[in-house]
Amino acid sequence: MTTIMIDARVDEARAVDVASTLLREGKVVAIPTETVYGLAAIITNDDAIRGIFTAKGRPADNPLIVHVASFADVTSIAVVSPLAQRLMDAFFPGALTLVLPKRSHVSDLVTAGLDTVAVRMPDLAVTRAIIARAGAPVAAPSANLSGRPSPTTARHVLDDLDGKIAAVIDAGPCREGLESTVVRIVDEKVYILRPGSVSRNDIERCIDAPVATSVQDADLHRSPGTRYRHYAPHANVVLVDSIEEAIRERDADKGPTLLLAPIDLALDLPWRPLSAASLYAELRLADSLHVKKIIVHCDEQVRTNEALMNRLRKAAEPRTED
Ligand code: AMP
Ligand code: MG
Repeated sequence: MTTIMIDARVDEARAVDVASTLLREGKVVAIPTETVYGLAAIITNDDAIRGIFTAKGRPADNPLIVHVASFADVTSIAVVSPLAQRLMDAFFPGALTLVLPKRSHVSDLVTAGLDTVAVRMPDLAVTRAIIARAGAPVAAPSANLSGRPSPTTARHVLDDLDGKIAAVIDAGPCREGLESTVVRIVDEKVYILRPGSVSRNDIERCIDAPVATSVQDADLHRSPGTRYRHYAPHANVVLVDSIEEAIRERDADKGPTLLLAPIDLALDLPWRPLSAASLYAELRLADSLHVKKIIVHCDEQVRTNEALMNRLRKAAEPRTED
């Protein structure tokens, strides 16, 4: 299969036209969003949804986030409680995913058989236009091979999936660079299943109540994706919180080592700047340079960014599979 690439910044009308036509035909298309690039298929076609799992090599028990173009799309697939509506009013379109009770017609392939569906409205006009023209919401996990860092440019998507998908719509580098925050509402309380670009503070300010996380540990099957090793580069990732520790790590190995830090620590190591928006691009760059070890300096600013720390810890987890 030849993968078409269309730059939506050059010809938005053609990007919308081609992508929505392919989606209607049941093809798999990589779409830009403000968080990371997504691998989309229309939710009304089970074969199309299977195409996502095949292209990514994603385990079938890991449910997909459904991306919508309108509030009407949300109510067509899910039941919206007053608290869910409040969150939608505040954060849709945006980097917040709501796990809601699903309507019975939503395919089990999308939800991995759960009675809930995860829903998000992406904050890119071109992407909402593609979904609207496709005629139904699309399921879209990150457009990377399973176990690789999420793609934040169209080039990253092609590096993983060229020849395996129908098209990539390029809208430039993703503004946020980390996946959405996934929340679930149980008994009108909000639980964070996965930290993301929308912070705990943002959510607490909106609902005027504390947000819990315990459901993630107590009830793992409700967010199956959190079981899998994610966001992994080939290099060994080591997190340090002081310069002394960074020096010890530098001296412990002789292999090619990279320092990822908010500012240059002048450690006589190749240094790349660390931020939420650039993390995945840097992990991929390190892989392409065959770096063996990435020392990540987590200063105060990094440590207080819950989503960034979550992805860094996952990247640093010991390798289990792949
Ligand atoms: P990804 O699409 O790779 O960004 O991952 C989507 C995340 O949302 C994974 O952690 C999934 O397990 C989670 N998710 C999707 N649907 C549901 C659902 N119905 N209930 C709980 N978590 C979900
Ligand atoms: Mg993913």
